[in-house]
Amino acid sequence: MTQQGVVFYREADADPAALGGQTVAVIGYGNLGSSMALNLRDSGLPVIVGNIDDKYRPRAAADGFPVLEIAEAVARADVVYALIPDEEMAGCYRETIGPGLRPGAALCFASGYALAYGLVQPPEGMDVLLMAPRMLGEEVRRTYQEGTGFFTYVSVEQDATGRAWPRLLALARAAGSLRRGAMPLSARQEALLDLLIEQTVGPYLGAAIQLAFQLGVEAGLPPEAMVLEMYMSGEMSRTFQTFAEVGFYKSVTWHGAVAQYGGFLRTLALERGSMERLFREALEDIRSGGFAKKLQEEEAQGYPVIKGLAGLTAGTDPMSQAEERVRRALG
Ligand code: NDP
Repeated sequence: MTQQGVVFYREADADPAALGGQTVAVIGYGNLGSSMALNLRDSGLPVIVGNIDDKYRPRAAADGFPVLEIAEAVARADVVYALIPDEEMAGCYRETIGPGLRPGAALCFASGYALAYGLVQPPEGMDVLLMAPRMLGEEVRRTYQEGTGFFTYVSVEQDATGRAWPRLLALARAAGSLRRGAMPLSARQEALLDLLIEQTVGPYLGAAIQLAFQLGVEAGLPPEAMVLEMYMSGEMSRTFQTFAEVGFYKSVTWHGAVAQYGGFLRTLALERGSMERLFREALEDIRSGGFAKKLQEEEAQGYPVIKGLAGLTAGTDPMSQAEERVRRALG
């Protein structure tokens, strides 16, 4: 389990009997909820689904789950795994999850967000857990089926029964995560980590790709070659894979002298002052709860900013059109 101070829980650390006979209610049969429900059931746990009346509801029924109103599923469950979008959690918890929770039950989240920013205040007398996968929903299912599993952050935020850790590890094992490893991280830390990377590395990477596309096309390069070069060929994602396999710095040696020299030269020339300032502002905004407050306002107003992004995702921009031509050409 422990290697030089780093803790990863693996299958041998979990006792499936800690959840023996306990019913798990998966609340929200969406991206992650559907994969989790299938994994947990395939591992032998009795799983029920609580879902609003949307397109996911018939899907859960077609997959063979008993599908109930959320409040009803919560009232029947020993373990409630709340898998609805983070920004929707406050209202859903207040109206349907919170009132039905049974004393001694466990309430588990897949993201630290709602706990870290006080969107939910679970009552005393129940276990409060975090099992936050580092993997997209469909990959959670695929890696379960292929037997490799996925990384997760786990935390016990409240141990009312004295059995919270064994329950959490049994749940993580049944989900398939402990084949890969689960690292302890509090809900507050998980939320900070998740938001920080999304709001620093994400925007810079995105902006670099947009700008390079613009300049490359201006310089006469085919737009199709630009999108192939940057992500469609898979070369770049393979580079990220080598960060994990051989190390961020060591992976440099996998590239030839031309790439090493050019990349190093331009990295040195980057103006890091403004970058650092923006990153620090993001960090402070996330830490202070300012970002969460803005997101809750966005939700309350019906997502005006997110709706504004629809123009970006409509597929009419030059990059999306180049991607489409590549896909069509490759069949
Ligand atoms: P989804 O967007 O797929 O939504 C899940 C379900 O919740 C859907 O059925 C959705 O219905 C329903 N829902 C939306 N709003 C409400 C509401 N107000 N009340 C009740 N149900 C509602 O969520 P995800 O699976 O993407 O995310 C769930 C959780 O898992 C989040 O905490 C997320 O951070 C975490 N997570 C997600 C990962 C992923 O890959 N998606 C990876 C790791 C963690 P409808 O769509 O019809 O509104």
